[in-house]
Amino acid sequence: MTALLPGASVVGESRQATLGVLGGGQLGRMFVHAAQALGYRCVVLDPDAISPAGAVAEQHIQADYLDSFGLAQLARDCDAITTEFENVPALALETLAGMRTVAPAAASVAVCQDRAVEKAHFESAGVPCAPHAVITNDIELAAVDPALLPGILKTSRMGYDGKGQVRVSTAVELAAAWNDLKRVPCVLEQLLPLKAELSVLVARGADGQLVNYPVQQNLHRGGILSVTEVPAPAVPTDVQQQAVAAARQVAEALGYVGVLCIEFFWLHDGRLVVNEMAPRPHNSGHWTMNGASASQFELQVRALAGLPLPEPRQHSAAVMLNLLGDLWFSEEGGPTPPAWDRVLALPGTHLHLYGKAEARHGRKMGHLNITAATAEAAHLIALEAALILGLPTDF
Ligand code: ATP
Ligand code: MG
Repeated sequence: MTALLPGASVVGESRQATLGVLGGGQLGRMFVHAAQALGYRCVVLDPDAISPAGAVAEQHIQADYLDSFGLAQLARDCDAITTEFENVPALALETLAGMRTVAPAAASVAVCQDRAVEKAHFESAGVPCAPHAVITNDIELAAVDPALLPGILKTSRMGYDGKGQVRVSTAVELAAAWNDLKRVPCVLEQLLPLKAELSVLVARGADGQLVNYPVQQNLHRGGILSVTEVPAPAVPTDVQQQAVAAARQVAEALGYVGVLCIEFFWLHDGRLVVNEMAPRPHNSGHWTMNGASASQFELQVRALAGLPLPEPRQHSAAVMLNLLGDLWFSEEGGPTPPAWDRVLALPGTHLHLYGKAEARHGRKMGHLNITAATAEAAHLIALEAALILGLPTDF
C-alpha cells in the first residue's frame, strides 16, 4: 500500500487527504483531533445529530451504520476509513472495504465482536485465556463443568463496561441468569482471583511493522476502567515481557492493521491470562496523549494512512483517572462542574473532556492525565487530584 500523505492534493482529486471514522464517540473525537493535527480532513458517520466526534470533524454524515447511502457517501468523501467502536456491523466495514482502504479489517473486528470467537482466536494464537464454556443451548448449559463456578456469565456479543454480565455461584443461578439474559449466546468464565489487571496496546501497519507501548496497569470499579498507571507499579519485568509478547502474538495471528488493545488478568498464582481485546485505541491507552512520543490515536492515524510506525517511547511516568458523569453530582443537588481549576493547579495535570453536554451517572465525560518524571511523583499528584475530585484514593 502506498502511503496516504496528509495535506492538500490527493492524486487525481483536488482536495485534502481525508480519513473517515465510523462512530462519533470520544474515541472518534480523539482520533479526529490527531488526524487533523497531522493535516488530514475528517468525516464522521454517526446516527446521532450531536456526537463528540461529529462536533469536531469537518464533515458529519448522520446515518445508520448500515445505511447504504451513508456508507456510499463516506466512501466517496474519504480515502481511508476506520472504526472507533467494535460493535459496528461487520457488514458496514466489508461494504466500505470494497471501495476504500479500511483498517482494522472487517474480519479482525468480527473476531473481537464475539467473546466465543475471540477466545478461540487466543487459544489458536497460543495465548491462554480464562477457563470458560460457551452456552448457546440447554445441552451446553447442562454440560457446564462445575469447576467453572463461581463464574461470570457474559453475553457473547455487545458487552461493554461490564454490561451484559452476571456473577453466578451455582448451576441454578447460572440457569436463571441465562434466562434473564434472554438465552442469547453466552460465555461462562470462571471467576479468577485477580492480583492486577493489565493491558498492552500494539499498532501494526499493513506492511507488517509492529510496535507496542509499555504494559498498563488498570483498576476497574463497577466493571468500568477507573485508573491506569504506566509503568505498571506492581508487575515484575518477566510478567510484563510475557504480556507484551502475548499481545504481539495475538496481533500477528490476526494479520491485524491498526491499534489493538489486549487486556490481561494477572492472577494470584502468578499466571497471566488474556481477558479480551478491543480493535481500536482503548481507554487504558489515553495516557499516551501526554506521556508518550506519539499517542495511540496518532498511531491509529498512521496505521490507517500507511505512514511509518516508529516505536513509541514513554517519556513521562503517567497516571490516567477516568472522569465519569458522577463527578458532576454532589449531595447538594443539581449538577455542578468539578473543581477543574484546583486540579489544573497541580503540576503535570492534563484535562481531556469529550464535549458531552449532559453529565450522567456512569457516563464517560473525560479523563485526567497526570505526568511526572517518576512513577512515585505521578502517583502522589494523582492521589491529590482524586482527593480534590472526590474520587476513591485506594490506588
Ligand atoms: P470493557 O468495557 O473492557 O469492554 P466488558 O464489559 O467487555 O468491558 P470484561 O472486560 O469482560 O467486560 O469485564 C469487566 C471487568 O470485570 C474486568 O475488567 C474485571 O475487573 C472483571 N472480570 C471480568 N471477567 C472476570 C473473571 N473471569 N474473573 C474475575 N474478574 C473478571
Ligand atoms: Mg474489558
